[in-house]
Amino acid sequence: MNDLHEPQFALHVEDLTVTYGAAPALWDIDIDVPPGVMAAIVGPNGSGKSTLLKTSLGLVRPVAGHVRLFGKPISAMRRRIGYVPQRSSVDWDFPADVLDVVTMGLYGQLGWLRRPGAPERAKAMDALSAVGMQDYARRQISQLSGGQQQRVFIARALVQDADLYFLDEPMAGVDRPTEDIIIALLQGLRDRGKTVIVVHHDLSTVEQYFDWLVMLNTRIVAQGPVTEVYTAENLRQTYGHRAALIRG
Ligand code: ADP
Ligand code: MG
Repeated sequence: MNDLHEPQFALHVEDLTVTYGAAPALWDIDIDVPPGVMAAIVGPNGSGKSTLLKTSLGLVRPVAGHVRLFGKPISAMRRRIGYVPQRSSVDWDFPADVLDVVTMGLYGQLGWLRRPGAPERAKAMDALSAVGMQDYARRQISQLSGGQQQRVFIARALVQDADLYFLDEPMAGVDRPTEDIIIALLQGLRDRGKTVIVVHHDLSTVEQYFDWLVMLNTRIVAQGPVTEVYTAENLRQTYGHRAALIRG
């Protein structure tokens, strides 16, 4: 039930605890991300960032708590959610060319009975052009550089035309031009009213790229507008005492 007096958060996480074995990966966390922001999730290695995304997408089951996307469980929202997984978690040897991978982003809209045709391929080509990969449409995905693979996965998310995008370290290991392209595309999505939630590894660009910030270390340290949350004290609480305030 939606309470009309409650703001409708793009991502609402309540009392969420996730464990794989004995130690918790996420401990009793609450998060609210409003719609239309570009949010960063930051925290040290192993702090639960990928787990938070996977749980939000229904790929990992929590031991307690729940997640709502625009007020609904993920099962009701799948077609409106885009996901770019952490690149290291993808098997890049699977035999598919670039256009196939991008066209897969349309399966949610097509349904399983319809095969993609010329209009779908045209949409996929438009998305490839947006990431500067139009000349690679027939290249095997395994034969691309890391940055090129990442651009293809961004293109796949773009054709989906989702309302909420989750991206797990999309800028890790990519070159500067690719990072600039990815950020411009994500900010363009945000400017069109989409919500973009990015696990981000580079503290020096947090203030420049994002308007919302979630700081995580198994528990939530802080969350809110970047201008309020990105402080030396919150960084120390998230990363430990060696962390200093890094600005771009
Ligand atoms: P991050 O993305 O912030 O680096 P993760 O969410 O990947 O953190 O991992 C959080 C913790 O959960 C880590 O201690 C990690 O080792 C553990 N973990 C993650 N995935 C699994 C898994 N499939 N099985 C067991 N432990 C896992
Ligand atoms: Mg991770």
